[in-house]
Amino acid sequence: MSTESSLLQGIRRPEYTGANRCLPCTAVNVLIAIVVSLLVAVVVLPLAPVVFGVSLLSIYYRGYLVPGTPELTKRYLPDRLLAYFDHGDERVQAADPAANEEWETLEKLEYEREHAVDPETFLRDAGAIRAETDVDDTAADLRTTDEFESALLDRADQLAADGVTAADLTEMFETGPDSITFKDRDYPAVQIDSRVRPWPSDAALHVDVAANDVLAERTDGWYDVPLEQRLDILAALRSFHERCPVCDGVVSFDEAVVDSCCRSYEVVTFACEDCGTRLVELPSDAAQGDLLADAERA
Ligand SMILES: [Zn+2]
Repeated sequence: MSTESSLLQGIRRPEYTGANRCLPCTAVNVLIAIVVSLLVAVVVLPLAPVVFGVSLLSIYYRGYLVPGTPELTKRYLPDRLLAYFDHGDERVQAADPAANEEWETLEKLEYEREHAVDPETFLRDAGAIRAETDVDDTAADLRTTDEFESALLDRADQLAADGVTAADLTEMFETGPDSITFKDRDYPAVQIDSRVRPWPSDAALHVDVAANDVLAERTDGWYDVPLEQRLDILAALRSFHERCPVCDGVVSFDEAVVDSCCRSYEVVTFACEDCGTRLVELPSDAAQGDLLADAERA
């Protein structure tokens, strides 16, 4: 920063650059810069490189060339393209990709195929959930057991008081503390190895780590379950909470529209009616049926 002139610092717009840069908007702006420069080239050829250079500088330092691009991209870019860029569970380009990455992926798939569990059976055997039949004995609802729930909430309270540290996540994510970076965002997000993992609230992060720890303590096989399936199971368990872990308010299912940098999309939520804490937030098209069944892998 210190090498930059005060002029550049003056025009820099931190709210649109750095970690806040919107990739689709940047891409659209670069395209606009190319088109405008080509048009200029037709009229005054020597001016074109200057226009192009100034445009790129503006995009670099201000985050955009044309004000209001987020609104434009929201309206005109296909949703699937925007979803690709979105700040969800994104992958970060590895600085030094392993040469045998492909082989590792094959081995990982093989491991996942061999060690995937039936989530409901696993959680029942662990004493974490039970089926509760309703009054006329027709339907069975899955509930967490009181014992599991109270162990989980004790641990979650402890995490809420102390804060989650890298040491709390190493075993859960099968990695070392140096590969864990807490991101500065308005929701909890942690970069673990080459991937950024987001949670809809601090409470959601706390109950995930707490459920992980309780399951690791009470079963022999929790860490044999493939990592991604374990995370799906933890996310599904979040939808089982009937009371808010923060304020004990009633948790209910709802639908909402979420605005990200340049698009809005529908999500299903499990959130506290009193304090608004969101335990689960999933794009509605990804949440078909019940979450525990979604956590089952072929
Ligand atoms: Zn609450």
